[in-house]
Amino acid sequence: AGVLYVVATPIGNLADMVPRAVEILQSVALIAAEDTRHSARLLSHFSISTPCIAYHDHSDSERTEKILDRVAAGESVALISDAGTPLVSDPGYRLVRSARERGLDVVPVPGACAMVAALSASGLPSDRFSFEGFPPPKVNARRQWLEALAAESRTLIFYEAPHRVLACLEAMAEVMGGDREAVIARELTKTFETIRLAPLAELVEFVRADSNQQRGEIVLMVAGASTRSDSTLDAEAERVMGILLEELP
Ligand code: SAM
Repeated sequence: AGVLYVVATPIGNLADMVPRAVEILQSVALIAAEDTRHSARLLSHFSISTPCIAYHDHSDSERTEKILDRVAAGESVALISDAGTPLVSDPGYRLVRSARERGLDVVPVPGACAMVAALSASGLPSDRFSFEGFPPPKVNARRQWLEALAAESRTLIFYEAPHRVLACLEAMAEVMGGDREAVIARELTKTFETIRLAPLAELVEFVRADSNQQRGEIVLMVAGASTRSDSTLDAEAERVMGILLEELP
């Protein structure tokens, strides 16, 4: 049997294309792309003339199985999305899941991923984090969804559409508090790359004051809830410390 390759592509800067991705996209029998017209530019830039078909998670299961039939018959297929790593807020889950269920080899070809790039340069704790994808667009749904995340102690990472970024930051400041540190990472790897770390209340003002901050591609990150500011925990720690100090010789 062939292999289903899951291939990352750049998130803006074409120089981030990894050499192995180029080799594999040139050598496979078929490229399954989220949007064939969108990917045409990337493929021509790297002189890749492999046939392309459209694949997204709404594709019917017949299309999924047809692609995998070709892998089973010995051809290799590469899955790409419009930008970055497939399956990360992008299509591909059903294809990869079905491939595994059929016992076919699935091989990742890692490269750019906006949320990892954003986190790596954010200055927020990166030892533990939770990627939450796109917040719900509607006001009430978003608020409830943020409330459910407010006590999370891991760094939170979101993708957000530019026309919703201000409303989203305002909701975050309301629900999580204006003092909570957050980062907006915009246009990563591109000409107008901007990364700003500040308390949520300040980020709201920054984005409100400069409409350029409401353009392009955006990753938002929010520091996890700090357990140290929990006053009941502090009181308990003090009580235990008092007992221990009394016991010391
Ligand atoms: N699969 C992609 C990845 O690996 O990051 C993400 C696909 S998702 C449909 C697109 C979203 O990713 C954008 O709305 C934005 O939130 C984020 N994104 C993609 N490229 C970006 C960039 N260059 N700078 C900042 N955010 C980016």
